[in-house]
Amino acid sequence: MKVIDRTESEKLFADLNKPSLVARTVVTPAWAVGTPGEFNWQHIIAKTADEAERIFRAEWCDFECEEDTPCGECQGCTLEVVPERKPMWDGLPNPTSGDWLRAGCGTYCSRCSYETFPEECGHAVGNEAVCEECMTLADWDIVDPERAAEIRADT
Ligand SMILES: [Zn+2]
Ligand SMILES: [Zn+2]
Repeated sequence: MKVIDRTESEKLFADLNKPSLVARTVVTPAWAVGTPGEFNWQHIIAKTADEAERIFRAEWCDFECEEDTPCGECQGCTLEVVPERKPMWDGLPNPTSGDWLRAGCGTYCSRCSYETFPEECGHAVGNEAVCEECMTLADWDIVDPERAAEIRADT
């Protein structure tokens, strides 16, 4: 093998063109998969929407299915399922209740376990999802300091 001498500038150029570590770390996309209006949504990591849907159905399938190959006949395989891309979950091994709310999904209140939705006064407080009734002054300090100040002024 012949070794070619390169000038300093050529070496620098070659270094600049090396893919960076960040660019080489491929994060598999995160999805929320479930039935609109139902509380069966799951966080699934998959390369494509089709793959996300297949994984979801394989988990719900009533029959002993081959891995990722649902039977196609049971309720789990035939119910309406929508894979929604959730870029904000990419790289998260397990999105918290707070992450679900932040991604625009309904989830269970971390304190009273009631269903709570971002559009119905559910609040993401750190890792928690907190419904309107469970919100404390300390929570308002985090999510809405102005509201916290109003509550303080009222009491
Ligand atoms: Zn099935
Ligand atoms: Zn609650």
